Amino acid sequence: MTDLTFAPVDIDGVLKLIPPTASAIPMVFDSPHSGLTIPDFDRSISDDLIRLASDTYVDDLFDFAPSIGAPLLVAEFPRSFLDLNRSLMDVDLEMVEGDWPHPVRDNASARRGMGLTWRYAWGDTPMHDRKLTVKELEDRIDTYWRPYHSTLVRLLDETHRAFGKVYHVNCHSMPAVGHALSPDPAGTLRKDVVVGDYDGQASEPDFVNLVAETLSGFGYSVSLNVPFRGAELVSAYSAPAKGRHSIQIELNRKLYMDEQTRAKTSGYDDLKANLSKLGDVMRDYVLGKR
Ligand SMILES: [Zn+2]
Repeated sequence: MTDLTFAPVDIDGVLKLIPPTASAIPMVFDSPHSGLTIPDFDRSISDDLIRLASDTYVDDLFDFAPSIGAPLLVAEFPRSFLDLNRSLMDVDLEMVEGDWPHPVRDNASARRGMGLTWRYAWGDTPMHDRKLTVKELEDRIDTYWRPYHSTLVRLLDETHRAFGKVYHVNCHSMPAVGHALSPDPAGTLRKDVVVGDYDGQASEPDFVNLVAETLSGFGYSVSLNVPFRGAELVSAYSAPAKGRHSIQIELNRKLYMDEQTRAKTSGYDDLKANLSKLGDVMRDYVLGKR
């Protein structure tokens, strides 16, 4: 038992931290891409297009987390505006006016136009009709990226301090079929769930395998690390040898929503119930009960 507690946090339009409602366990969940609130920024496209890449409903699908004793951190803005699953070094220099005065790295996602900020909302529709000023991008980072990452780090660090270990589940969704911007070839039919551990570098294998096998047991087709192994949020703060484990779960949107209308489909409640059962299995694992 531990006296670890977290206070709720709500930064309007930026993030929400939902604390555990049961006694704490060494787990943290986060949903960085489910936000639909459009920030106030100069843009050339419709709000619907900006929301198109969002992991709509993922925050709701994983909302069992507080009931098993894990905090749930949720971003409230769309990923095309600012992608929390990117490093600050993944700035797309093509989007910035003049010289960017901070370090950058060569990054495949940024080259595809899906860096820290997205060049295109989706397809070939540009997010902006001009470049961003250095100040605009710095402000975006300070207002949206830093609070989310510092809150996540605090959750992970405090949980690790209390238990000597932490299991982080980074929650996402994916289109049913690969497309022009994705790492898999356009037209690829995807599995029901992709579990990623950064090709074995972000988590102990037993935890990843338990998650994959439990989902398979529910009847889902499951792939490990292909085509998504996870990105910044599972790689930056994980260190399995030190008891810091991160995995990514990508849910196929065809399981629970119409990708055109974005309406929930009849499969929604079944998936949500199964994820909650998965939560119970993960809880027992991290508490050493299985
Ligand atoms: Zn995502």
